[in-house]
Amino acid sequence: MAKKRNRKFIFVIGGVMSAVGKGIAAASIGKILSARGLSVNLVKIDPYLNVDAGTMNPIEHGEVFVLDSGLETDQDMGNYERFLNRDLGPADYMTSGMVYASVIARERNLGYGGKCVETIPHVRDEVVNRLERAADTSGSDVSVVEVGGTVGDFQNQMFIEAARVMHLKDQGSVIFVMVSYLPVPGTVGEMKTKPTQNAVRLLNSYGVQPDIILARSTHALDKKRKEKLAIWCNVSPENIISAPDVESIYDVPLNFERDKLSDILLKLLKKRPRGESDLTEWKHFADHAHNGKREVKIGIVGKYFDTGDFVLSDAYLSVIEAIKFSSYELGVRPKIDWINAKDIQEGKLNVTSLSQYDGIIVPGGFGETGIEGKISAIKWARESRTPYLGLCYGMQLMTVEYARNVAGLEGANTTEINPKTKHPVIDILPEQKELMAKKNYGGTMRLGAYPCDLVEGTIAREAYVSAGASAKADGIVTISDRHRHRYEVNPDYIERLETAGLVFSGRSPKDERLMEIAELPRSVHPFMLGTQFHPELRARPLSPHPLFTAFIKAAIGRKQ
Ligand code: GLN
Repeated sequence: MAKKRNRKFIFVIGGVMSAVGKGIAAASIGKILSARGLSVNLVKIDPYLNVDAGTMNPIEHGEVFVLDSGLETDQDMGNYERFLNRDLGPADYMTSGMVYASVIARERNLGYGGKCVETIPHVRDEVVNRLERAADTSGSDVSVVEVGGTVGDFQNQMFIEAARVMHLKDQGSVIFVMVSYLPVPGTVGEMKTKPTQNAVRLLNSYGVQPDIILARSTHALDKKRKEKLAIWCNVSPENIISAPDVESIYDVPLNFERDKLSDILLKLLKKRPRGESDLTEWKHFADHAHNGKREVKIGIVGKYFDTGDFVLSDAYLSVIEAIKFSSYELGVRPKIDWINAKDIQEGKLNVTSLSQYDGIIVPGGFGETGIEGKISAIKWARESRTPYLGLCYGMQLMTVEYARNVAGLEGANTTEINPKTKHPVIDILPEQKELMAKKNYGGTMRLGAYPCDLVEGTIAREAYVSAGASAKADGIVTISDRHRHRYEVNPDYIERLETAGLVFSGRSPKDERLMEIAELPRSVHPFMLGTQFHPELRARPLSPHPLFTAFIKAAIGRKQ
């Protein structure tokens, strides 16, 4: 019989309030453990009932992150992959909706053998099974599990209950980290520990005792308050880690290791590390975040600007991070400005004001808000020879602009905006038509990683090859990137667009008529390139995305 795997779990639970960096704390814990030679998977639990994050508006919930598998997830999964520098799988993500959907499906199939199916134990056990499956699928030594929300929320109790039961079954293998907040009220001017004491009590009432407290605050925790927390929360002082605000999220793992957090975690888990902490490469990267002297100015022309609950930058998180990684690699400091496409469209902002930027990005998006504004910005970038990177919608609209203004296809459009256009240069993917007719929206786009063949002598191929991509025996360079779209370049227009000078430098190997990258030759424009996929989803601190690097390089070139 195969030896039972010794699974280890670290549950990260929030106290006091949300938005204090629980995701970054979980990602950083993953990072410092993998720096000790252990293999780690990170799991995000989102307590909402959506079966995945795909149907949520980025203004309310932040960016939708897509895994290789095509699963649409919370943006925290992006942080996890960036910190761990590895791909995570669909087992590493769950929502209440997903958990309930599978329990109900099993009940419909008589999978519970005639029993009454209940939240406890059936839904709880489904959570436990999923967590164990995630650990086994990734074969990791340690799973770090972030429970979304804050202790006291009604929605996440089920998950904390699952964690409690796992701890009960194997006390040495399951530990709890509470990420709590210590306010410094302006009128008082001193850090208060009471909300955290109360949060721990609340967690205790669920039958869970934190082993470690990460004390998030604007300031570092002093000795007096550490001792106070220790006594009142029943946690030894050395297991209370000060986690003050930092300038860059990438400093967090380094700060944690200053307090030897990986030693503390491993001791509690009774797990031997494979070596001393090696964060050399990470430190090198994190230092770059502070060191770049020369600035490169990037303008992002988008639409998710009417911020709801989330801050603007959350809607485009991966794009921002991808810009940073490539900029740091090239030794420059990016300055990112947001340009509301609607303002250009409505004439509130003159498109020539874009001349202050070294590079322009039109990121992914849906629907018609600000579309003509985006197209004007693209036209301006093309004519002024300003480096341009189009991401998904940004590639489709770059194609529309080229069709209208260079290929002479008057009124060309995407059928997403004008289904009756005379020249539908961007059209719905055939398999998507049926899904739309049935209003089958959830998880049905062309999602996840697909291969793409790169055409010789193009900017795209050069960029990937200089980042290490190599040709197969047949001379073809195939790369893989992640998608999330329903529309594509209409195959009926490929030839006309090519004749007019647009180069399709990336194509799907399975269907040569599926265009994945469009670009202009360097003789015409220093860098004008758009991707049907989202390269930003694969950009990592320690492996920046080749296309972002090529774009930033061109932006630096323009500056000079
Ligand atoms: N709206 C476009 C489509 O569905 C682009 C999607 C995107 O930018 N992610 O194809």
